[in-house]
Amino acid sequence: MKPKKNSTDFLHIGHKIQTWYSKNARDLPFRNTKDPYKIWICEIVFQQTRIAQGLGHYNRFIERFPDVKTLAEANENEVILHWKGLGYYSRAINIHKASKQIMTEFSGIFPSDYDDILTLKGVGKYTAAAVSSICFGERRAAVDGNFYRVLSRIFADDFDVSQTNAFSYFSELAFLIMPENAGDFNQAMMDLGSEICRPKNPDCGNCPVNDDCLAFALGKVSEFPVKTKKVKVENHSLKYYFVHRNNQFIIQQRGDDDIWKKLYEFLPEISSELVPFIKNAKTVNHKLTHRNLSIEIFDVEINSDLVWNEIISNKNLIVSDFEDSQKRSFPKPLENYIQNTLKD
Ligand code: SF4
Repeated sequence: MKPKKNSTDFLHIGHKIQTWYSKNARDLPFRNTKDPYKIWICEIVFQQTRIAQGLGHYNRFIERFPDVKTLAEANENEVILHWKGLGYYSRAINIHKASKQIMTEFSGIFPSDYDDILTLKGVGKYTAAAVSSICFGERRAAVDGNFYRVLSRIFADDFDVSQTNAFSYFSELAFLIMPENAGDFNQAMMDLGSEICRPKNPDCGNCPVNDDCLAFALGKVSEFPVKTKKVKVENHSLKYYFVHRNNQFIIQQRGDDDIWKKLYEFLPEISSELVPFIKNAKTVNHKLTHRNLSIEIFDVEINSDLVWNEIISNKNLIVSDFEDSQKRSFPKPLENYIQNTLKD
């Protein structure tokens, strides 16, 4: 059964979800504010990070960068460093760029409607809907994985969530049950999706809308949401050369393209004169969302002052040591390598 558009038959479902939320809302720091800056940062932080894992990072980030101006004036490397532990560093770079954009294009005042918020660097429909509804009362559905899951189950709707128009399809479905306060409703759906209507083992017995849920009535909860397109994962090989002498080693900063934007790395290649200094190699595997990486790291120990001095005369390279490396952000496998190799 597909609900007819504009039907008001389903509004009671949204009211039940909101009543449940008023008694069961998780006590999270960003729940006590309507500051769009903080809500925006929180939405970006928690897009790919679980609440329990990201909370400390969020608090530290807000402590250091309490407002748009402070963030816009900060050095990019420091912003990246404060993102350490959250991964997906392009989010930090985009947040920084967007804060500058707010200073120049919006006179330092966070934009107050969906369309303007959507113009900010790195902000998609979900984040724009969340910020505009929670902070400015705009009637928008912040459709994310929670919405796909809860709505497809309530309506036993087999619309494929991997389709490109899934966001607008589920937005329309969300409006069928959305009460007056879109901001509260969006947060209620977030909590219902993560606490009750979980991807695996949903707690249907304690669900406030189990009387209204078609998938539950049909005993087909596990069949929703429908997702046909699998994420295509590619295999990639990389080489790195850990060139070192005594307790120092050579690094460089990555550019703005491809993965690991602006992070620091070991040398991806060395000149043929350095090949005789290779002691051994180690392969580490690392999984990204769309790539399986196999990284071969060569240990290159330079035992000649002359050669070392020639390497470090290259102005594009940075001489680092353990202490210095802790103030920089590296891709996770390289950070692990440094920890394992240099930490006492
Ligand atoms: S009854 Fe179960 S499947 Fe249906 S919305 Fe509630 S938790 Fe989800």
